[in-house]
Amino acid sequence: MSASKPLDYESPHKKSAKKFILKEYIQLTAGPANFSDRVLQALSMQCLNPLSKEMHLMMDEVKAMLQYLFQTTNPLTLVNQTSGSGGNESILTNLLDPGDKLVIAVGGTWGEKVQDMAQRYGFDVLAIRKPPGEIFTVEELEAAVKSHQANLLFVTHGESSGGTLQQLEGIGPMCHKYDCLLAVDAVASMGVDPLYTDRWQLDAVCTASQKAIGSPPGLCLLTFSPRAEERIKAKKNKSPYYFDMTRQGLYFDCFVDDHSRKYHYTFSSNLLAALREALAQLCEEGLSEVWERHKRNSEYLWKKMGEIGLDCFVEKVENRFHGITCVKIPSGVDQLELLKFIKDKYDIEIAYGHGPTLNKAMRIGLLGQNSRPEVVDYLVKALKDGMEQLRKQGTN
Ligand code: PMP
Repeated sequence: MSASKPLDYESPHKKSAKKFILKEYIQLTAGPANFSDRVLQALSMQCLNPLSKEMHLMMDEVKAMLQYLFQTTNPLTLVNQTSGSGGNESILTNLLDPGDKLVIAVGGTWGEKVQDMAQRYGFDVLAIRKPPGEIFTVEELEAAVKSHQANLLFVTHGESSGGTLQQLEGIGPMCHKYDCLLAVDAVASMGVDPLYTDRWQLDAVCTASQKAIGSPPGLCLLTFSPRAEERIKAKKNKSPYYFDMTRQGLYFDCFVDDHSRKYHYTFSSNLLAALREALAQLCEEGLSEVWERHKRNSEYLWKKMGEIGLDCFVEKVENRFHGITCVKIPSGVDQLELLKFIKDKYDIEIAYGHGPTLNKAMRIGLLGQNSRPEVVDYLVKALKDGMEQLRKQGTN
């Protein structure tokens, strides 16, 4: 083919693609959260061969740090190159066959999405619901597991759409009485509120890289108990190829009887390096300290909000998630105008409501590196200024 032959389509940047300059914001939405300079640096290193010994070393380190993060000794603890939703889908499709029975405790948008996913795969779903701001008791979950004869119960730990934290203690032993497994969406709550995979007998837990962990979006982090591993092996139907935890588990060297580390797909060494750095920072600070910091700063936020006339959407303090605070929309203020004001003037992004909080509350994420008192002070100053200006405009 001649080099001068005209192409069918021309690039809009034929001569010189201009540098795309991104403005940096303080990301106080429900995620992603800002990441540290250390993570940024790790992300920018040269790529690695996904089958190289350096990559294997990084995977081993990540796996060990994940076992600490999840508080587990589960050998099947690994990373899949997808987002949190892909993690939830990996759990469902590796533990269930079509027709298997699943109870979903829906506490907001994320439970609704898991229901949608599960129905697409032909699982027999019973969804149970609570009013906004409320969480499930073990007794309520037990009644559903028993009546539906469930193979799996799926709960969301930190509900980023409604601002609640589902208590997990006691649910695992209850499920196991009925030969039911327990899966937990900890996408928003990992590294925020306490979670003990082994102590609480959780069988499958999923989180994502971009929230309190503080690395770029694109990875989900998973652990499966030996009970769950048995279920994976006993499955009659194969899991979707990309989400197959047996294949990905081989690549992450999770099985005692096969250390071939067989290739599954090209894993991004850059994303893994960034995750390794974020986890290293978390390990250096210490998990208990990280949990305590998130609690302290969210409580500080609630106090400071009260001083400027803002109320929490979740009334009961004991039901509140310490990663994302839902704030009732203040009277006389258009929430979208307020969000725009603080973004334009203060470079802060917060989120509008979703699911249970739609048109009722705004959502403020204090996740990972952003959970700091000076961030709270700056945000509260911005919100106070925004409310005053918008109310003034409203009366003019
Ligand atoms: N579950 C929860 C609790 C979440 O907060 C989110 C993301 N906001 C998800 C699942 C989905 O994660 P992702 O956007 O990474 O797919």
